[in-house]
Amino acid sequence: MTAASPRIVGNFIDGDYVESAGEELIDRRAPGTDEVVSQVVASSAEAIDRAIDAAREAFDSGPWPHTSGMERAIILNRLADLIDRDAAKLARLDSEEGGKPIILAEGDIAGAASLCRYAASLAINMQGKTFTNNGPDFTGLVLREPIGVVGLIIPWNFPALILCQKLPFALAAGCTVVVKPSEFTSSSAWEIVRLVSEAGVPDGVVNLVSGAGQAGQALTESKKVDLVSFTGSTATGKKVLAAAAGNMKKISLELGGKAANLVFADADLEDAAAGVIFGMNFNNGECCVSQPRLLVERSVADEFVAEVARRAAILKVGQPLDRSTDVGALIHAGHLDKVTSYVQNAPSHGAKVVTGGTRLSGGVFGNGQFLQPTVIDNVSDTAPAFQEEIFGPVLTVTRFADAAEAVRLANSVDYGLSNSVWSKNMDTVLTTAKALRSGTVYANTTIDAPPQMPFGGYKASGIGREMGEAGFEEFTELKSVNIRTGKRAGTFAIPSSGR
Ligand code: NAD
Repeated sequence: MTAASPRIVGNFIDGDYVESAGEELIDRRAPGTDEVVSQVVASSAEAIDRAIDAAREAFDSGPWPHTSGMERAIILNRLADLIDRDAAKLARLDSEEGGKPIILAEGDIAGAASLCRYAASLAINMQGKTFTNNGPDFTGLVLREPIGVVGLIIPWNFPALILCQKLPFALAAGCTVVVKPSEFTSSSAWEIVRLVSEAGVPDGVVNLVSGAGQAGQALTESKKVDLVSFTGSTATGKKVLAAAAGNMKKISLELGGKAANLVFADADLEDAAAGVIFGMNFNNGECCVSQPRLLVERSVADEFVAEVARRAAILKVGQPLDRSTDVGALIHAGHLDKVTSYVQNAPSHGAKVVTGGTRLSGGVFGNGQFLQPTVIDNVSDTAPAFQEEIFGPVLTVTRFADAAEAVRLANSVDYGLSNSVWSKNMDTVLTTAKALRSGTVYANTTIDAPPQMPFGGYKASGIGREMGEAGFEEFTELKSVNIRTGKRAGTFAIPSSGR
């Protein structure tokens, strides 16, 4: 694609692709080049309504909620195969529009296919419970049913992967769907909904509305949508929570994070240094489970920080589509400004930038949004860089004396999505893991989770879970069917002959 022929991402409603019906188009500039690579239709309220109606009709009157789990699994496995087939194209779209290194984008697409396959297994195993322990004449059936029409609101940092943390699970449960991708990275979702049709999902079951926040807001406000599954910032999550309160809609919120790497002196420090570098720079540091805080035991801190800074300085920052790039381009110019402001303000809070901090432009960087990986030492736990989500390749360093102080520091932020512990002492690992207030703890690894592990946040990092059986259950409702056999006894059971 060139600047002269941007892709257009429009709506997909009831099996029809509507590229543009004259609505405003939102330009998407590639973060690596600043060229317009796609245009996203700002969906009208009427189009969003039609998409919701299509999903409602498909749920209330269509076959999808009643197909067998096996049939849904076959379709989801087919979808996985189609995602694999088109992996190169999908990865390129996410890398170009999102600024992430192409190698990582390829990993995302492989992960998206795995999620579909895992969700297929859940479709087959969807089950309720039976109770026969309330007397001989009672049978209690707990039926697990699809929740209904779900709105899936997706952020820009993992466009295909996060879509597939939701979509196949919703489909496995028998739900119908309206997808709202991020206005910054809509193209891979647009391609994946095409693959959903090719895999055999009936028209109307999956619909897509493009556009910015107003499209997401409309989904959240609609009384015809039963659940909104949202991934994005905590600030937007609060708006979703407020809008959903208006109609008592169920919600699942996957929000921001501010993870810490807790490195103890008895860790394999070589491994830990590699993990800290990965946790800080993976996906340009624009990941909810990025590990932007290093908490390191004082006795090994100076040496360890020097090694981390050395490694950060030799990473290759480059164009997202270059296969040798370690760190790509940040999502947009405003975001790069925000990230660099934390670096610039660090000295005023007593901290010191030990490597990086420079924006890169010209030459291979052109007009893109690039920042050198940055390590800031001596960051106090009250500094904004320690407390707030920076969302870039920036690491803050804070020293601790013992496990109690490490845990206190890790838990002292509003977020609670993930943390990593590095120690070869299993007592330290388990005790620390239990004390950390986060939905995920990685031990002697980081950003490392298969689809069967539930994922979600404590505190301001969210409500509900994704992936695993718990993630699947978010897309279901339970219905209790309480059955008596024989003659009903008890209060008001008056025999026809009178008292
Ligand atoms: P964002 O909140 O700006 O946008 C997320 C989505 O919400 C987009 O599709 C956007 O168009 C839509 N939106 C905007 N306003 C809305 C409104 N009023 N109502 C409904 N939808 C609205 O987030 P972002 O910048 O795209 O993503 C980055 C953020 O997402 C970071 O904070 C990151 O930590 C978080 N995130 C969390 C997870 C997780 O699983 N916990 C995963 C990835 C990203």
